[in-house]
Amino acid sequence: LDPNGEHLGPEEQNAEVQLRPQALGDFSGQPKIVENLQIFIQAALQRGEALDHVLLHGPPGLGKTTLSHIIANELGAELKMTSGPVLEKPGDLAGLLTNLEEGDVLFIDEIHRLNTVVEEYLYSAMEDYRIDIMIDSGPNARSIQIALNPFTLVGATTRMGLLTAPMRARFGINCHLDYYDAKTLRRIIKRSAGILNVPITEDGAVEISRRSRGTPRIANALLRRIRDFAQIKGDGTINQDIANYGLSALNVDEGGLDEMDNKILSTIIHKFKGGPVGITTIATAVGEEAGTIEEVHEPFLIMEGYIQRTPRGREVTEKAYKHLGIVPPGRAGT
Ligand code: ADP
Repeated sequence: LDPNGEHLGPEEQNAEVQLRPQALGDFSGQPKIVENLQIFIQAALQRGEALDHVLLHGPPGLGKTTLSHIIANELGAELKMTSGPVLEKPGDLAGLLTNLEEGDVLFIDEIHRLNTVVEEYLYSAMEDYRIDIMIDSGPNARSIQIALNPFTLVGATTRMGLLTAPMRARFGINCHLDYYDAKTLRRIIKRSAGILNVPITEDGAVEISRRSRGTPRIANALLRRIRDFAQIKGDGTINQDIANYGLSALNVDEGGLDEMDNKILSTIIHKFKGGPVGITTIATAVGEEAGTIEEVHEPFLIMEGYIQRTPRGREVTEKAYKHLGIVPPGRAGT
């Protein structure tokens, strides 16, 4: 189960599209964001202006792409999608921008991965709806200015810290997506089950929601796999027993931690005496990129209270020892 969604096969991608809410009213959770967007969108529509640029940030799988679709839908505008690493040259960006109709939405995923040259071009596009393009080279080189239709840029990032300050400053609307509580995930799971046409009991939905790492993408992916277990091992209905059986078969533990989450905790405990230890050291020890640990695993483990940040690095908490069935140091024999 890949919370990044980066390695999704065509089947999973289709499933994501099928389960994606289309309107703000279908989007569960993140109430503050939904409420604010509703107002900003309505106000922009009333004034007949393009919506201010929107920055969405937070861990993968929490609904950033979904929200960009919804924003375009609610504006009655077209959505054009791209991502930071895809835009290699200013020309790539210029091509997209000059094709935008008035009020359209341009979604740039992984906006922290734009290269500096392209990013600078984006500044004037965002600020003044114009770009300066260099044509020719050598002695004939000259720059021409192209006016753009007013548009809305929706940028998404899992790494707010890697976004440059000038980039950040150009977004008028700034939304941080948080992990979902179990109750909201339950609602999302039941909605998805309805779309997939699979019967699910309340306790079945509770079980999956508890073990979805606070992430709708994971909740939906688990639901689709548990549906298979229900079909083959049960009577087609997802109840608590089938959910439990399937989740164990999928190696999802009781707290919803995945293998890497557990590996991080046990590494800090066994190799670094529980911490504090720096993120790059942890990364080397577990064989994962520091960036992935910082954007995918750490925020979840912190939110759930398994690790805490200290000025000297990351430390596991008692909850982590308990989770792994290890007696915390200083407690032995008590
Ligand atoms: P991100 O872009 O943040 O990585 P996505 O927007 O692609 O995440 O969301 C992943 C999947 O999770 C989507 O297919 C969508 O079905 C589901 N999802 C995300 N947020 C919600 C939500 N608030 N309500 C219902 N489904 C959601």
